[in-house]
Amino acid sequence: MAAVILQAKGLAKAYGGLKAVDGVDFALNAGEIHALIGPNGAGKTTFVSLLSGRIAPDAGQITLAGQDVTALPAHLRVRKGIAYTFQITSIYPRLSVFDNVALAAQSQGARDLAGAVGVALGRVGMQGLAGQEAGTLSYGHQRLLELAMGLALKPKVLILDEPTQGLAAGEIDDFGALVRSLVPHTTVLMIEHNMEVVMDLAHRITVLNFGRVLAQGTPAEIRANPAVQAAYLGTD
Ligand code: ATP
Repeated sequence: MAAVILQAKGLAKAYGGLKAVDGVDFALNAGEIHALIGPNGAGKTTFVSLLSGRIAPDAGQITLAGQDVTALPAHLRVRKGIAYTFQITSIYPRLSVFDNVALAAQSQGARDLAGAVGVALGRVGMQGLAGQEAGTLSYGHQRLLELAMGLALKPKVLILDEPTQGLAAGEIDDFGALVRSLVPHTTVLMIEHNMEVVMDLAHRITVLNFGRVLAQGTPAEIRANPAVQAAYLGTD
């Protein structure tokens, strides 16, 4: 059985009377691509915000490689290896691509900064753009830069929030190949609305609905699950 890298037990968060995340048990296996799906308002963003430490849970426990990180603030969870792309890696538009990635690498105490930046940019195929001002990049390249910044954090777990949103079809294909190339070195958890991407890319899928886990399984299992079809995918 695959080793569990990140685990949540009984995780809960309410806003007023609304249970955004309502007692979620979840296990992320090391080296997998795991997609988190569910209808709007299902609690996906709240759930990954709990994992990354951006918000604190009302109840439950989070462990990273067996270590309890529930009480750790977000920046310390990053250091332990949980990177949440849109929390950690907002781009500085006036800085160069290189300097943006260098800031991320530096925050993790990289000794060979230029080397670390080169590796991260190489992973996303952006070495040739190192000198460019980040704000002048195309949208697709900015998303890749965010990914490179996430990778420069050397994460055990990389959480991507709707990574293909706004990308053109060709860019989505490239993104899929890129994410595949990241595992098994890192583990990817992604919130994704594009079902084609989810079914093509994910090893396993967790479906949230009304803050609870509705189903969990392989793409084939999720596709065939009647509860998922009824709640989310439609029956056709
Ligand atoms: P989407 O796919 O639309 O992004 P989601 O699955 O990510 O949705 P969340 O954003 O986690 O869902 O929201 C879950 C529920 O919690 C929603 O009903 C939302 O309105 C509510 N909610 C989220 N954040 C807050 C907040 N800061 N204050 C109050 N309610 C919130």
